[in-house]
Amino acid sequence: MTESITGRPVVARFCPSPTGNPHVGMARTALFSWAFARHNKGTFVFRIEDTDTSRDTEESYQLLIDVMHWLGLDWDQGPEVGGPNGPYRQSERLDIYADVVDKLRAAGKAYPCYCTAAELEHRRDAARRAGRPSGYDGKCRSLTPEEKAAFESEGRTFVTRFRMPDRDVSFTDLVRNEVISFGAENVQDYVLVRANGHPLYTLTNAVDDALMGITHVLRGEDLLSSTPRQIALYEAFRDIGFGDGGMPEFGHLPYVMGQGNKKLSKRDPESNLLAYRDQGFLPEGLLNYLALLGWSIAKDRDVFSLAEMVEAFRIGDVNANPARFDIKKCQAINGDHIRMLSPEEFVKRLVPYFASARLIGDPASDEELALLTAAAPLVHERTNLLTDAVDMLRFLFVADGDFAIDDADSAKNLGEGGITTVRAAHKALGNLSSWDTESIETALRDALVEGLGLKPRLAFGPVRVAITGSRISPPLFESLELLGRDKSLARLTAVLG
Ligand code: GLU
Ligand code: ZN
Repeated sequence: MTESITGRPVVARFCPSPTGNPHVGMARTALFSWAFARHNKGTFVFRIEDTDTSRDTEESYQLLIDVMHWLGLDWDQGPEVGGPNGPYRQSERLDIYADVVDKLRAAGKAYPCYCTAAELEHRRDAARRAGRPSGYDGKCRSLTPEEKAAFESEGRTFVTRFRMPDRDVSFTDLVRNEVISFGAENVQDYVLVRANGHPLYTLTNAVDDALMGITHVLRGEDLLSSTPRQIALYEAFRDIGFGDGGMPEFGHLPYVMGQGNKKLSKRDPESNLLAYRDQGFLPEGLLNYLALLGWSIAKDRDVFSLAEMVEAFRIGDVNANPARFDIKKCQAINGDHIRMLSPEEFVKRLVPYFASARLIGDPASDEELALLTAAAPLVHERTNLLTDAVDMLRFLFVADGDFAIDDADSAKNLGEGGITTVRAAHKALGNLSSWDTESIETALRDALVEGLGLKPRLAFGPVRVAITGSRISPPLFESLELLGRDKSLARLTAVLG
């Protein structure tokens, strides 16, 4: 059953502005809209709101597309795939907005406002002092042609304002499941088009929602104050016979709180979506965590697949209270998804990270892939981020000249006693006739635990640090086998000096 109150087939959308780096809040909005569309077997529209030439960039547009592909949130209409109501970049639709504005003006729904910034500010101050609402006061609502002509001859420019109806605006919010009302006195006539002719978001967003047949608008709670404006604009469209006459339903997704109970800002480092990819989050792990920012599949259950989310997602179940962003939990959930990967899939996901760390070629050689395939299982269980695996397995792939030992680990493990241990290990391993995990383990136990009388817990630390460069590493005997006899002996020799 669809969740549409109107019964229209669902058409949901995601319509970011391409400014800066894609951020977490944006991805959460995309995910919820997408899941809503897919759950209801509807259409998902991806639209780029790039009419602000001072802030929008082509680079940011490309990143948005990349991130959507990476996350696996596919769209039925939008950039790259097209669709019946394109183009889907607003910068290519300016004629459409100009045309609508002409129609709104002809119908008296919009009007030119010649007030200068200084005049507006002056009146706003006066209103504030008198305790009246301080938004636009409607001064230019009913200028006569003569008054307009006089302003123009003074060389004044004008913005185009929408004439808000003098009545309250209400709608039923899909998330809060309640009616939200805005008093007429609190929503003033607002600007549709700037003096330089650039249309503003409030206009272009509603125009395109109308032309693209959007039935459900899901977006962040920060945009709630623009909703009454857009509803009023929609009603004006209906009056002038523009669009399909339908009114979308609205749902506002809860705020996401970051550190110290402050709203997560798109400028916070943990907002940067690309950083998650770079650190080795799986898209499915990150999406799972983003889903928890306002929704849950069941009590006491945090880990689920995207398909399970689509199956279960109901917009009415979204929690209206602010959600807390917890990076530790985000990483832990990613780790759960990594552990659910098959060994082959785990290797496949690791390959680009090893390549960008320049530990394998791009493309990787057969030998490199064979080594990675053999080594990956040693760290699979312990990997929360794919880059954890890169760090733990680096010692196997690094060029001889680039191998380095962590200073602190060296100081702790390769002092006088440590060197004695390494010397004994070198001797024992040098005599080995076959180089496999079992023989290596037997030889080292004999030499270090039996021979030197070391406690098993302490015996292998120096060898581990000499071989892997760190105290934290995959299981030692397997590591030695994979590194090979020559390299292993060379690394032990190197610390003996
Ligand atoms: N372009 C708007 C933004 O990025 C979209 C708002 C909406 O979803 O309606 O904030
Ligand atoms: Zn004015």
